[in-house]
Amino acid sequence: MTNGGGADQWREEMRLAIDTRTHTTPQVAPIDALDGAAIRADFPVLNQEPRPGKRRLAFLDSAASSQKPRVVIDALTTYYAQHNANIHRGVYDLSEIATQRYEESRKAIARFINAGSARECVFVRNTTEAINLVANSWGRANIKAGDLIVFTTMEHHSNIVPWQLIAEERGARLGHVRVTPDGRLDLEHLAELLAEEPKLVAFTHVSNSLGTVNPVREMVSLAHAAGAVTVVDAAQSVPHMAVNVQDLDCDFLAFSGHKMLGPMGAGVLYGKKRLLDAMPPFLGGGSMIRKVTLDRTTWADVPAKFEAGTPAVADAIVLNVAADYLSTLGMDRVWRHERELVDYALDRIREVPGLVVIGPQDTHERSGVLSFAFDEIHPHDVAAIVNEDNVAVRAGHHCTQPLMAALGVPATTRASFYLYNDEEDVERLVESLHRVVEIFR
Ligand code: PLP
Repeated sequence: MTNGGGADQWREEMRLAIDTRTHTTPQVAPIDALDGAAIRADFPVLNQEPRPGKRRLAFLDSAASSQKPRVVIDALTTYYAQHNANIHRGVYDLSEIATQRYEESRKAIARFINAGSARECVFVRNTTEAINLVANSWGRANIKAGDLIVFTTMEHHSNIVPWQLIAEERGARLGHVRVTPDGRLDLEHLAELLAEEPKLVAFTHVSNSLGTVNPVREMVSLAHAAGAVTVVDAAQSVPHMAVNVQDLDCDFLAFSGHKMLGPMGAGVLYGKKRLLDAMPPFLGGGSMIRKVTLDRTTWADVPAKFEAGTPAVADAIVLNVAADYLSTLGMDRVWRHERELVDYALDRIREVPGLVVIGPQDTHERSGVLSFAFDEIHPHDVAAIVNEDNVAVRAGHHCTQPLMAALGVPATTRASFYLYNDEEDVERLVESLHRVVEIFR
């Protein structure tokens, strides 16, 4: 980068360089249905030469973490190669531009989930940290001995453990919404628990183990009518469908960038500003203060109040690139693509002898997550054998041990689909599962 035209020109050049690098549109034709194979071309990991004798990777573990498109990888490299600086501190150009990009990313993420203001979006590391922030900050300020905290049996451990910790500390009670045998929330049980006027209700939008899509708007409205604050775990929804926090009317909503094509290291806590304003800080240190004396400190306004220390600047900036990639394709198309794939997968997978699909059987109530089990074959064996065919799935309890216990299954094998998957991936999985059955026969 030259400085021949003076500082202003240099700054403008740099801004343009970042703009063009971070806003490349995906190389996908603007057709109605998504073409998984065409999208896959944007994802270097998925286009690596397979080992000799192997077919291409069929990656079916995006619920754990998604792959990253070239624009995201390039934007990270560009940031570190050309624009790296700490933010909110320096008065030099590099730092000012990094700060500007960080705050622009926040605005873009706010638009992505339709938050009323960027101030309602706190950058955190991931969903886990977001929920811990609410439990530690809102929880400590509001939960008293005897209060009831409700979550569901379907939750990921990151939406269970923080509530257990705060309940133990405060002497509060816990209530757990039951699940039905086919893996849906028992909404009558929710209503019973709401009659006890809980302080807070936390629930997942989409189950990471079963793919169940919960009726979030209705649940938020019921919880509000009972006087409770609501926390939505959107780790498995924001990456896959259009999520509109104002429409859902939830008080808090958490998601992870790494599950939505973004880098590992940046996630988001959305919170209604009125609530965030009233909450004490979670972590103390640099950046979150207004004034510090040796005896006392006052806090910065939100969201800075909750962003102590040096944040994952590059990851937060590049999260915007991932969101932009998804928005350009259209979240409704992404969602439709996954639903069509899981529909096809549900049809085809039932051909496999002895295989039982766990969770809702109706595609209208599930996302692109498909869990299954065999009576006699351990899920880890299934995952290991399909891996020999270069099909990547997950096996285990998926960080939902209470859900597995409630359904009476120790573990499942889980295939999860995303925008870069196609019918060939489903066929590869089914073919490989037939081989599993052959081996164990
Ligand atoms: N909630 C759900 C529903 C998840 O699927 C996950 C991760 O799989 C998490 C929370 C935790 O996400 P992270 O590990 O990014 O904090």
